[in-house]
Parts: sequence; C-alpha cells; structure tokens
Amino acid sequence: MSQAVFIDRDGTLSHEVGYVNHLSRFRLFSFAVEAVRLVNKSGLLAVVVTNQAGIARGYFPSRLLDEVHDALRAAMEEGGARLDGIYCCPHHPTEGEPPFRADCDCRKPKAGLLRRAEAELGIDLARSWVIGDRRPDLELAWAVGARAALVKTGYGLGELTYNAPSWPRAPDLVAEHLLEAVQRIVAERGVAG
Ligand SMILES: [Mg+2]
Ligand SMILES: [Zn+2]
Repeated sequence: MSQAVFIDRDGTLSHEVGYVNHLSRFRLFSFAVEAVRLVNKSGLLAVVVTNQAGIARGYFPSRLLDEVHDALRAAMEEGGARLDGIYCCPHHPTEGEPPFRADCDCRKPKAGLLRRAEAELGIDLARSWVIGDRRPDLELAWAVGARAALVKTGYGLGELTYNAPSWPRAPDLVAEHLLEAVQRIVAERGVAG
C-alpha cells in the first residue's frame, strides 16, 4: 500500500484564474515541478484531484481538459517529475445537462476521487495527505482519515485569514505554497518513518 500526496490543481499547482477555458490560461506555479519531483523522490505517489464543473456548466468541452492535462504532464516530464494520476470531477449537482449535471460522489469534498485512486493505485489513505487552497480540499482529506495541508496560494490566504478561525478543525499543516508543504510532509515522514 502506497502513501500518496493528493494535490489540488487550481490555486495549488497552478495559478487560480477562474475557469481555465483555454489552454493559454493554464499557468503552473514556478515551484510546481520541483514539488512533484520531491514527492516522486520520496517514494510517495503524486496524484492530482480537481473539480472542473466548467464542463457541466458548458464553459468548455472535456477535450480541453484532456489538452490541459496533457500539457501538465508534459511540463512535469520536461522537469524530471511525474504525476501518478490525475482525477477529475466534471459534474455539477444543478447546472447544465446530464450526464455532467449529476449529484455525483466525486465532487470535492466528497471522497469519490480519492476512493477511485485508492482502488486503482493501491493507496493507503490513512497515511496520505491532501494539499489544497480551499476548505473543501481539507474536508476531503478528513472524510477519508487522511491529513490536510492548506497552502496560502490561490484562495488559501483568504481562507486562512477570514474563515479558518471559525472552522471546527484546523488544517494539519499550513504552508506558504505547495513546495513548502511537500518539504514539510517529507521531512516529517523521514522522522516518523
Ligand atoms: Mg484550488
Ligand atoms: Zn463528480
């Protein structure tokens, strides 16, 4: 059973720009490749988990999502990094038309994407982490007994400043950005085994 670092996409791995409705709007953070490379080097799986309701809303076709994720994989490969999986929820409970208008089990904070990765990649969720910039990313982690890291990029700083003080549970880790979060997760793991 593998340990994994699940990584939110928009605001965590790439700049939060609203809907990425064209490839030209997708911009990785400068530290993204190094962060994933560090996850790879540490023997953990690096798995992207992302809600993309823009598909259900009809803002862009699912082939654009494939294009964006092909570009993401290519950028990683170019920098010597590798994503072990990219799991995406294209649904919305009330917007658009079926099949994408659906009360699915995979829209974060629901755990469907993690459950799929658990089964397909052999992941031990209880020893894994989710890193993201919004509360649903944290709730996703806690729903499956994983730990949750909040980054200050994307919506993170606002979440931390205005909302986090009233959350029933504090993030297990708060980091400036994805690379710092990964560095600290890996360092802790080195001590704890
Ligand atoms: Mg995000
Ligand atoms: Zn879904």
